[in-house]
Amino acid sequence: MKVYKFGGASVAHADNILNVCNIIALEKEPLIVVISALGKTTNAIEKIIHEADTDKAVKMWDELCDEHKTIAKKLNAEEHSIVYLDEYQSEGREIIYDYSRRNSDEFYDQLISKGELMSTTIVVATLIERGLSSKWLDARKMFRSDERFRSANIQWRETEASVQDMINDHVQRYNVMVTQGFIASTRDGRTTTLGREGSDYSAAIISYCINAESMTVWKDVDGVLTGDPRIFPNATLISQLSYEEAIEMTYYGAQVIHPKTIQPIQRKEIPLNVKSFIHPDRNGTIINAAGGLLYPPMIVVSNNQYLLEFSSKDFSFIAERHLSMLFRKFNHYRIRVNMMRNSAISFIVCVSAEKERLELLKEEMAYDFEIEETTNLQLVTVRHYNQSTIDFLTKGKTVLFEETHDITYQMVLK
Ligand code: ASP
Ligand code: MG
Repeated sequence: MKVYKFGGASVAHADNILNVCNIIALEKEPLIVVISALGKTTNAIEKIIHEADTDKAVKMWDELCDEHKTIAKKLNAEEHSIVYLDEYQSEGREIIYDYSRRNSDEFYDQLISKGELMSTTIVVATLIERGLSSKWLDARKMFRSDERFRSANIQWRETEASVQDMINDHVQRYNVMVTQGFIASTRDGRTTTLGREGSDYSAAIISYCINAESMTVWKDVDGVLTGDPRIFPNATLISQLSYEEAIEMTYYGAQVIHPKTIQPIQRKEIPLNVKSFIHPDRNGTIINAAGGLLYPPMIVVSNNQYLLEFSSKDFSFIAERHLSMLFRKFNHYRIRVNMMRNSAISFIVCVSAEKERLELLKEEMAYDFEIEETTNLQLVTVRHYNQSTIDFLTKGKTVLFEETHDITYQMVLK
């Protein structure tokens, strides 16, 4: 069996959804399809959550649900979807009304997951309308997670068993099984999510559980490029990449695939294709154990970085005691450490995080440390670097912090 994953951009409008259905229809063998929320739906729901304690929220929610129904109507897919879409809409309203009584990360997951539930409902209804034998599967019944809402951890053993059961139950009768990316549930049935952009990871989990023949991520670019084409118009396609190289690139922030995607499929040596849904006939990138022979310099840019410099207030040297205290807090506030250096009296880190969480950290640490912060920075990572690439990237910029290790060059730029 093969696993396909379609992200939000590939199902943003009715035309795109038809395109996705065409790509699915070309596959002759049984197929498992993992789909994200339509277009920017997840961002839209985040806005609603932000307004959840105001009168606006329900109105915004109803508008979003109406947009989904309009798309279903355009696709002639109303008959097989309207009952469910109505149900999600009213469940969503209940969740919004309930807001004040809930832990907010849990509340977030209950509402945000509706995006994927609605998108997959529409896609399945469209496939059925077009005569393809397809089945909608509830990801919450397959993916078991812990209770870390908004960035839940998969419970692999239980998930493997339930994914296999669910797929085995349906594979004889249906050619196409469609499920939601991004969402899971706790053992007692409360919805969780795997972290923003987590649908690639969902597809990798399924691929792992069923020993898929291959997994394909369908994107609006031709595959994995040497840099983000919006920043580097001369970026070129990398046709073959090893798992290790892909893990490194995504770890440093390459947006083409979610960083957690590679490890499960590497474990089972499942080839991962990254292909364009606009030009499905093109080859794209294949990620496998063999990889490429020689790699060109590959650039990953991450914006919104912070440089924090901690110095101890009691004139003591920065030592393990300080570092372990800081790292416990980084973990607690989900602050990601991208680069670091310690000297006798200070500890410098380049981090990325939600602004609110960073403020909480600083507040808490201000008792023990003098903290200096520089904001709005860029972290640039180059794999297989050469001097001309570094010169090109640093031209007209100030390098605040840099580090080289083996074939990787990292720098924080202002
Ligand atoms: N819809 C979710 C998000 O936008 C998950 C995904 O697209 O992968 O973050
Ligand atoms: Mg998305």
